[in-house]
Amino acid sequence: MPIALSGIAVSKGIAIGKARVLQHGQLDIAEYVLPPHHIDSEVARFNQALETARVQLRTIRNQIPKQTPQEIAAFIDTHLLMLQDEALSRAPVALIRHHRCNAEWALKLQQDALVQAFDAMEDPYLRTRRDDVEHVVRRVQQILLREEQQSGALESDRDEPRIILAVDIAPSDLVLLSSRHLAAIVTERGGPLSHTAILARSLGIPALVGVPHVHQYVRNDEVVILDANNGSLLLEPDAATLKHYRARQRAAQRTRRELYKLKDDASLSRDGIPVTLHANIELSEDITALKRVGAAGVGLYRTEFLFMNREFPPDENEQYQTYRHTLRRLNGLPLTIRTLDLGADKEIVAGATACTNPALGLRAVRLCLKEPQLFLPQLRAILRASAKGPVRLLIPMLTSVQELAQVMALLEQARAGLRREKKPFDPALPIGAMIEVPAAAICADLFAQRLDFLSIGTNDLMQYTLATDRIDESVNHLFDPLNPGVLRLIQGVIKAGAKANIPVSMCGEMAGDTRYTRLLLAMGLREFSMPAASLLEVKQLIRQCDITKLQRPLAKLMASPNPTACGIELGLIGAG
Ligand code: PEP
Ligand code: MG
Repeated sequence: MPIALSGIAVSKGIAIGKARVLQHGQLDIAEYVLPPHHIDSEVARFNQALETARVQLRTIRNQIPKQTPQEIAAFIDTHLLMLQDEALSRAPVALIRHHRCNAEWALKLQQDALVQAFDAMEDPYLRTRRDDVEHVVRRVQQILLREEQQSGALESDRDEPRIILAVDIAPSDLVLLSSRHLAAIVTERGGPLSHTAILARSLGIPALVGVPHVHQYVRNDEVVILDANNGSLLLEPDAATLKHYRARQRAAQRTRRELYKLKDDASLSRDGIPVTLHANIELSEDITALKRVGAAGVGLYRTEFLFMNREFPPDENEQYQTYRHTLRRLNGLPLTIRTLDLGADKEIVAGATACTNPALGLRAVRLCLKEPQLFLPQLRAILRASAKGPVRLLIPMLTSVQELAQVMALLEQARAGLRREKKPFDPALPIGAMIEVPAAAICADLFAQRLDFLSIGTNDLMQYTLATDRIDESVNHLFDPLNPGVLRLIQGVIKAGAKANIPVSMCGEMAGDTRYTRLLLAMGLREFSMPAASLLEVKQLIRQCDITKLQRPLAKLMASPNPTACGIELGLIGAG
């Protein structure tokens, strides 16, 4: 029996390969007291190490393959900026002079102080910036100690796929590793929000994080299996286990190939009802994946990613150019641009105060209404983009129609400004609301009367309806899309849309989960938006479905106190 270690799967897939253990536990940093006449040369040694680190990072940046998302270069730019920052370039010099200590030790003192400051921050996204500090300091310390860089470790393994096991992997190192026959990564540290996890998903590299002491359990060159579909790493697999996983890998490839054949087929149910399948995107680079699966357009563009990993927010023109570029790449397909959803589990803007309960705090449209200087340039950029192609504007986290009225007033202000400046926009730009707060779901009719479309954000709708923090792994098991409270809210929103004769979409993760496709179709949902990777599986199911026959089972399920059991029995809910 193989030994199984478990962790959090942050990028799905199965990998089989030889292990490569990157030895990067704590670096052995000692403190030396220097004689006064050595201080200047120690400062020079430190400055030289900083320069070498800069050269290394610039080299990495130049090696990034062409197709790689811009976000990846941004990680490296962040590290380059950090090297220039006074906190890492000047403060250690002052420490060397003050304590008369060696450069490695001065860097350690400064890192400890910075890490402490980051740890005190409430916001989980900002806490991930602590990892960036550690990665940058580590790089400089390794140069000072003349240690091997992690990314150099695979030089000799070019022809063999490797599963990398490490305490942590810096995003910049992952970029280099990815071009060198990397099968998967497993780390002790990290979470689904860490930069490395985001990157692994963009690059399609299976990844498991949060596996304690993993680098101590595994030897170099040992064959291991990573099952990042169920979050386990199998050590010492026997022949039968290897055979089983190789078969699963082949089956997954076959399924993918078969699914791609559906790309150009109509998205119609068996009884002829059309269903629109859109994709969610975070970056305009995601359009490549959207086209590969034949999505009908973008149902959710999470624009806040444009604002991350940078010192200053993008101005109106940069936003306009980005939306225009995205529209051009979409070549006539519709683009639903969601206005900024910063806050909670995403980066807060500089100056915003940390709050006791970020998910219930100043996030999304609340933040935008409080900071019109942040919101207006985005509204203007979206309006301007609407002159260039089919755009829809989507507002997140609305709780009341009064908030909606405030957004409409700002939109009018933006339109008036553009008219004065003779800048074109679409006067009929469709405006929609994310329905993701229970109060908005209960009053969906009020929103439907005032808007052109609604989009159900089940990720937050569940978080708030079930009082379950979506990023707290200790209550993850309480997340249940089939809770009767959640189902009634979803059904109510779909009905409110139908009554007002406006389209209702769903863009939360539930829309891409094939277990719920039949149920949502039965409820009357005709527009789904999901990660591109899920789209063809959902399409396949829709094409097999007789929607009209699902009405009776739906009525039974909605009346049941246990919709899960009832739905499985009636064939409305797919197996897990
Ligand atoms: C949602 O809440 O369901 C949603 C789609 O938005 P996000 O996940 O970006 O909060
Ligand atoms: Mg949301």
